[in-house]
Amino acid sequence: MSIPRLANLIDGRLQASHRDTWLDVHEPATGSVFMQCPASDAGDVAAAVEAARRAAPAWASTPIDQRAHHLQRLADLIAARLEEFAALESRDSGKPLSLARRLDIPRAVSNLRHFAAAIIGWGSESHAMETGAPGSGAVNYTLRQPLGVVGCISPWNLPLYLFTWKIAPALAAGNTVVAKPSEVTPCTAALLGELSIEAGFPAGVLNIVHGSGPDVGQAIVEHPAVKAVSFTGSTATGARIAGIAAAQFKKLSLEMGGKNPAIVFADAELSDANLDTIVRSGFANQGEICLCGSRLLVQKSIYDVFRQRYLARVRALRVGDPDAADSDLGAMVSQAHHDKVLGCIEQARHEGGQILCGGGALTLPGRCADGWFIAPTVIEGLPSAAQTNQQEIFGPVVCLIPFEDEAEALAIANDSRYGLAASLWTQDLSRAHRMAGQLEFGIVWINCWLLRDLRTPFGGVKQSGVGREGGSEALHFFTEPKNICIAYGAPPVPRQDASVPPMESR
Ligand code: NAD
Repeated sequence: MSIPRLANLIDGRLQASHRDTWLDVHEPATGSVFMQCPASDAGDVAAAVEAARRAAPAWASTPIDQRAHHLQRLADLIAARLEEFAALESRDSGKPLSLARRLDIPRAVSNLRHFAAAIIGWGSESHAMETGAPGSGAVNYTLRQPLGVVGCISPWNLPLYLFTWKIAPALAAGNTVVAKPSEVTPCTAALLGELSIEAGFPAGVLNIVHGSGPDVGQAIVEHPAVKAVSFTGSTATGARIAGIAAAQFKKLSLEMGGKNPAIVFADAELSDANLDTIVRSGFANQGEICLCGSRLLVQKSIYDVFRQRYLARVRALRVGDPDAADSDLGAMVSQAHHDKVLGCIEQARHEGGQILCGGGALTLPGRCADGWFIAPTVIEGLPSAAQTNQQEIFGPVVCLIPFEDEAEALAIANDSRYGLAASLWTQDLSRAHRMAGQLEFGIVWINCWLLRDLRTPFGGVKQSGVGREGGSEALHFFTEPKNICIAYGAPPVPRQDASVPPMESR
């Protein structure tokens, strides 16, 4: 039986790569190949950029309510096929179907709807902001204009969720897009591409090119007509992209790795619901969320009691067939990533860490016998400086770290080259504010995790990121402000004061 194939979307047409070469796409739960995507190259990227360049002027001058209408229509089409999208996302990434249904696809729909609405509100507020300094004899206003052709490069862990998080603001702001989903999980982006035609996007406005990072991603970054690149992925890839983009002075938004702390103080309200959230913050999506807390800092006075309650919950997590309704965790996204995470667990053992639960691969019965599963793993006994507590593992692995007091918690939490997100569990409001101000992270959650309002800024500091996404931050990134100054002549001044220099010489 032949394996189905995905298509690139270039200039409004679904097409294979000009090379007619293909990459296998695996189902992580079974290890089998179920799809192929085009192994495109710089030639395909050049065709996509050319199409985007041709489409750019008309799209930029399309009224914003019409641009918003296209995004809403695309959202409607995805929402109408939510089950199909969720099944495809789960099959492609190994995540539980229930999670794709509950989180990934609804959030992709929300991303499109959010930026459709945001651009309408934002357009009237920020597109023509007038300022006039009294006595200057001039009036100023600022136009925020689209950049032209922009590149959007997304990772495999939340495939459609992060793909739409980039293309929605880029398109809403009036840019044309050349986008590249991860070659590991290209399926839902390809289906979105098909639906974008039905949604009425003009040819060339949204282009999707599949293929490897070095072949397609790099070609997007290198192309001189691509004015900005919005990237989410690993810090190593982000550094490579920054090196190329810097030479061309491109605008860059980089959302990269994390090694996030969850900090539990003795005064935290450890209700069942809160404990469930703390467990989820480490193991949701097999720990393959950049925001997962992989360092769990617990105040010493409650450490033993907390550990017991926490471990009981982690041991109860069910790793299983992503299709099964009761699976809490599915499969790791690829054999390579599965092996990398197992290597990190081995390293923790070498460093002297004690494995409190999990600690290895799992073999499931039946159709998942060859899938890439790992047991939820909790480790203790490693100092903050240990490699295990410093490197991003991006799997179902959490390290418990005891701390004495606020100062020590802060020092351990900030002892990282990453700075994406921290979560803080305490009922002491003053402490929460004190800590939040001093934690070196782009996001601080207090008594919650992954609670997102799409209007708020999203991103990291240190090696976790450059720039912010979300709400008006994303719309700012995808536009360039232009100051326009109109002189109308100074108003008559009754009497000249010689000690005050005229306006133009100040
Ligand atoms: P990755 O860096 O390997 O790949 C990300 C994307 O970049 C893919 O589409 C890939 O094909 C492309 N790419 C690879 N090499 C490239 C190159 N030389 N030039 C241009 N593009 C290239 O990351 P991944 O393994 O897909 O994703 C996991 C990583 O993403 C983790 O580090 C995780 O923390 C991070 N992540 C961060 C966030 C965030 O918001 N900060 C969100 C999700 C994932």
